Amino acid sequence: MDRRRFAIRTYGCQMNVHDSEKLSAVLDGAGLSPTPDESQADLLVINTCSIRDKAEHQLYSDLGKLRQWKAERPGRLVGVGGCVAQQVGDRLLGRFPQVDFVFGTHNLRRVPALLRDAAAGRRAAWIDEDATRGRFDLPLARVEPAGGPRRRAFVTVMEGCDMFCSFCIVPSTRGREISRTARDIEAEVRALADAGVVEITLLGQTVNAYGRHDVRRGRAEDAGTMPFAELLARLDAIPGLERIRYTSPHPLFFDEALIRAHGELERLCPQVHLPVQSGSDRILEAMRRRYDRRRYLGIVEALRTARPDVAITSDLIVGFPGETEEDFEQTLDLVREAGLVDSFSFKYSARPGTAAAGLGGEVPPEVAQDRLERLQSQQREQTLAYHASRVGERARVLLDGASRRGGGQVMGRDRHNRVVNVDLTPGTTAGPGDALDVVIVGATPHSLLGRPLAAGNSPDPR
Ligand code: SF4
Repeated sequence: MDRRRFAIRTYGCQMNVHDSEKLSAVLDGAGLSPTPDESQADLLVINTCSIRDKAEHQLYSDLGKLRQWKAERPGRLVGVGGCVAQQVGDRLLGRFPQVDFVFGTHNLRRVPALLRDAAAGRRAAWIDEDATRGRFDLPLARVEPAGGPRRRAFVTVMEGCDMFCSFCIVPSTRGREISRTARDIEAEVRALADAGVVEITLLGQTVNAYGRHDVRRGRAEDAGTMPFAELLARLDAIPGLERIRYTSPHPLFFDEALIRAHGELERLCPQVHLPVQSGSDRILEAMRRRYDRRRYLGIVEALRTARPDVAITSDLIVGFPGETEEDFEQTLDLVREAGLVDSFSFKYSARPGTAAAGLGGEVPPEVAQDRLERLQSQQREQTLAYHASRVGERARVLLDGASRRGGGQVMGRDRHNRVVNVDLTPGTTAGPGDALDVVIVGATPHSLLGRPLAAGNSPDPR
């Protein structure tokens, strides 16, 4: 008998992307097969994001359209997971009759049971917080996805967040901080490396807070955790692995040991995505970020001393309540002073249930839009200048596939996590999962252009 097929639509951050991979493994274990084509699916799961109101509205618009999708084939089911599911819970079932089950961010393992109930006509929502380390025990995501060997993988090291930044809904959707045991993380990374994965990205809402509560309480040994820098050193020793990245660290937990690790660990990539959010101390305080610009710039300087070629990127919010032109100019100034290679920037959007939602002092939308454009224009110039400074360098590119620019180019990422498009020389064949040694010959604000080096002419992989 044909296995039933499922498709997953994923919104939001890398954590959600990885949750969808884990859910795929759970559904596979429950006897379903994945399909990238929703028109072929019997089950569609929407993995939602609620970080901005736009993302939440996207879910409601998707659900409206799914009435038709369900009507096309009787027996089709719709499940909703992720951060909106966690917040809205069974009210989603009340509002949208086309939704068959709802599961929270800690309840991936419950999905097969929810699915069985839904198939029997019993709609349900399960959003309980699971505060045990057992929630990390999920089947490993498949290492051989469609489209070529898998060389990159995400690995969860901690989940949840205890920081309660005033603009952020994550502490209510992902629950309290909890770290996985180092033994389990190491076992997963070894299994991935044995299966051909060469690059891992360690994931956590505040990834470098890994183990901190256990360490502070003097019970790290019992809990099986350790400081984040020690975890990195352990993983750095795993044979077969070439690149280690992590996202997203919080400046408050960026300690000296982590800075030193960037100078010492061979496989730790020269790239850090370190969210700053604002360059104004007044706004950082209102955001409850618990650091100031001096501290942030101090980390940047120390990182550059430890690893001079480190590429630092960040997240920024403009138009936070009460942000003046002067505050905003301090953000522009910090982006310059930190030499950010790239950044993701957004206009503030109030999330119900967060402290900032009641602050008042709203910035008019046209002012916020103008600031966003000015910030992004400055960032484009900085990114282009950084890319131009790399022309003439050698780099190793781990290929993802055909370039968006077309023209027979392939694209991938270098150790600095920059996109590199590569013009293959006639006679060269290379595809997803291959590593190519190139010389950088061109730069745009979005990517680098590389030309393959002759075989055997490998650059230093660092
Ligand atoms: S550190 Fe702040 S922004 Fe990041 S997940 Fe936690 S509350 Fe949200």
